[in-house]
Amino acid sequence: MRNRSKGIYIALALLGLAGFGGYSIYTSTAFEREAPIVEVADEIYWNLKEPIRVSLRDNTGIKSYKITIFNGSKEKIIDMQKLEQPKRELNLSIAVPVDMEFPKGRAELLIEVQDKSYWNYFLGNKSLKRSKIYIDTKKPDLYVVNNSYAITKGGSALVIFHCRDENLKDFYIRTNFGIRFRAAPFYKDGYYVALVAWPITQSKFKATIVALDKAGNRAKAHIPFYLKNRRYRTSKIELKDSFLDGKVAELAEDYPETRSMDRIERFKFVNEKLRMMNEQLIHTIAQKVPQERVTQFKIKAFYPLKNGAKVADFGDHRYYYYRGRLVSEAYHMGLDLASTKMADIIASNPGKVVFSDYNGIYGNMPMISHGLGLYTLYAHCSSVFVRKGDSVSRGKRIAKTGRTGLVLGDHLHFGVVVQGVEVRPEEWMDRRWIKLNIEDIIEDAKKLIDSK
Ligand SMILES: [Zn+2]
Repeated sequence: MRNRSKGIYIALALLGLAGFGGYSIYTSTAFEREAPIVEVADEIYWNLKEPIRVSLRDNTGIKSYKITIFNGSKEKIIDMQKLEQPKRELNLSIAVPVDMEFPKGRAELLIEVQDKSYWNYFLGNKSLKRSKIYIDTKKPDLYVVNNSYAITKGGSALVIFHCRDENLKDFYIRTNFGIRFRAAPFYKDGYYVALVAWPITQSKFKATIVALDKAGNRAKAHIPFYLKNRRYRTSKIELKDSFLDGKVAELAEDYPETRSMDRIERFKFVNEKLRMMNEQLIHTIAQKVPQERVTQFKIKAFYPLKNGAKVADFGDHRYYYYRGRLVSEAYHMGLDLASTKMADIIASNPGKVVFSDYNGIYGNMPMISHGLGLYTLYAHCSSVFVRKGDSVSRGKRIAKTGRTGLVLGDHLHFGVVVQGVEVRPEEWMDRRWIKLNIEDIIEDAKKLIDSK
């Protein structure tokens, strides 16, 4: 009896060991069961110039891989490796096979990878990835159809172009100052229209349309604007204590970090930091270009304030002095107009209200989108009669002038923004300029397109 029970104990112990061993094998990294990861697109657009990039990863290490291309009739091994030292990550470039043609413009890519795991009877985990290849060696068909003859420093201009590609990925207008302007569909398929702007802070202007397809083919078209330089005024402003302790202190109140500042530091905060934040908000809102197809762009000359006299210029480079010392500077990015106190502000063109709230140094400020990335804003209002989301029609009273924000007296700060860039309002207040630079360009482009 005693021997028998001993035997059972031994048998149980052995079973336990075997079980533990099996479990160890099951969980140890040598026997891990995760298949290698193959990173490559399911659909590859290939221009047969740049290599296709593939990345292989595995948590224990890649032992071997094989890459095959099938052109519809013939199969070719592009790359095959057995690694002496398994690697956790491999970045491969698949070059264009020299003696392979793609008469159908299509191919298939097959990637097989094995890791060094002992799992699967020591064969390892295997991954197999199939991708479709579309051969595309043609660059987008891109050319300028029509454009405003000139662009003035601080001003706006229009361009209409053709852009077409089977696998079009993106297109935009690249400038020498880092801003990309976007276009909206125009008139007929394959045509686009965009407003562009020359920021007042830039001494040079250059604009090129760039189009890319999914295969990496790229086309460029320079927009041949005649460049008109323009001088903007600079002015010297002597800061008064009454202003620094009044309006400036009032605006700084919302920012606890200004409490320990002296009046000049506080002014610099309001004039530089707060101004930058308020302008950034405007730029962000005004960046959008509605994507509805444009067939016409009928803009009337803006006339926001009846009998409004100009009290400050757009683009004025202001230098601020305190007791004879230069303390700060800023560009004035709108046109200041004044008539009577709390005068009616009129929307001269229909549009959609995209902002209607308090915006720091701009005070109460409604902002309207007129389409094509053209926006107008009305700052320092005493009261506003429109809300965000409202549609406004031509002639609607939208607000009353006032002195909210960083101002001395009651006036309207009228701003025009093209895709996030403040431009000279005078152009958009000039019926002749609008006809020559916007309307005629659109109408002539339609004729050119129809004649094709
Ligand atoms: Zn102003």
